[in-house]
Amino acid sequence: MAASAAASYPASGLIAAASPPQRHGGRLQQRRARPLMTLSTSAVRRSDRIRPANAVTMDGWAARLEAPVAVVTGASRGIGRAIAVALGKEGCKVVVNYAKSGMEAEEVCREIEESGGTAFSFAADISCETEVESMMRTVIDAWGTLDVLVNNAGITRDALLMRMKRTQWQEVVDVNLTGVYLCAQAAATVMMKRRKGRIINIASVSGIIGNVGQANYCAAKAGVIGLTKAMAREYGSRNINVNAVAPGWVASDMTAKLGDDVERKALETIPLGRFGRPEEVAGLVEFLAVHPAASYITGQVLPVDGGLSI
Ligand code: NAP
Repeated sequence: MAASAAASYPASGLIAAASPPQRHGGRLQQRRARPLMTLSTSAVRRSDRIRPANAVTMDGWAARLEAPVAVVTGASRGIGRAIAVALGKEGCKVVVNYAKSGMEAEEVCREIEESGGTAFSFAADISCETEVESMMRTVIDAWGTLDVLVNNAGITRDALLMRMKRTQWQEVVDVNLTGVYLCAQAAATVMMKRRKGRIINIASVSGIIGNVGQANYCAAKAGVIGLTKAMAREYGSRNINVNAVAPGWVASDMTAKLGDDVERKALETIPLGRFGRPEEVAGLVEFLAVHPAASYITGQVLPVDGGLSI
């Protein structure tokens, strides 16, 4: 991989004018100047003025004056998008990470801005260490801290194990497990110093009960669950909560490519008799990320699966 982009990012309202350098597929690209909508001077000022009554609290004390800073990986589409929007509406400053879907990521930022929040998008392949470092450095340069990390980005490369190619195995493990390790390690370094933070890893029910044709995915998601528990033990003394959310079948681009037959069979296994909606996962993530009542929950794996894993 190419060397890291030194994203020098002004710490105030100049952010919109000086967009950080971006990498796409290992190539350094200057990010196009975003419309002021994305992270405007007014948006920064607006976030600084967040009304105490509406501000979310990380600690259960009086409402914070500073909005929590949240990074959501894979936030251009599906579940990640719903999480980013939910956190933005709750008053977080949100980094909308994506790999390829720049237009969609900008649209997510716009939706957050329109609801009164603050956001910017950042292209980084989470399986690439230098790109993760660049993203985290940009967040710190822009907003000075990191309070919440949602490790959501994920891919599938399904095949029966007998036919699974090494590339299918490796790509899924690289993004779904190594990507979580890279982002969580980088975020925890910041959070440890502040002795505060919340990390939510999006695992899957497949990582708990397994699934035919998804050995790579199940192994990676089971790994995420183990990583979550280990991190919860390592970082508990630093007041960093680490939890996993395990969705069942959720309607998104990831599940849209399933054939009718697979979908029908899947529905038969779900007590609630339907696929979940991204917003139904986002609600739990939002609770774990910013709600004071979630401050004593760590190392847990919480299914959002319509009863699939009972
Ligand atoms: P999705 O609609 O396919 O969206 C995936 C997101 O991940 C996109 O924003 C994509 O960005 C991003 N992404 C992919 N590879 C990336 C990379 N290397 N670096 C950074 N971002 C990357 O998926 P989804 O259904 O919302 O799933 C979200 C998470 O929930 C995944 O971890 C998935 O395993 C988990 N999950 C989903 C279901 C389900 O039924 N949908 C069930 C259980 C668990 P681009 O748009 O730029 O490609």
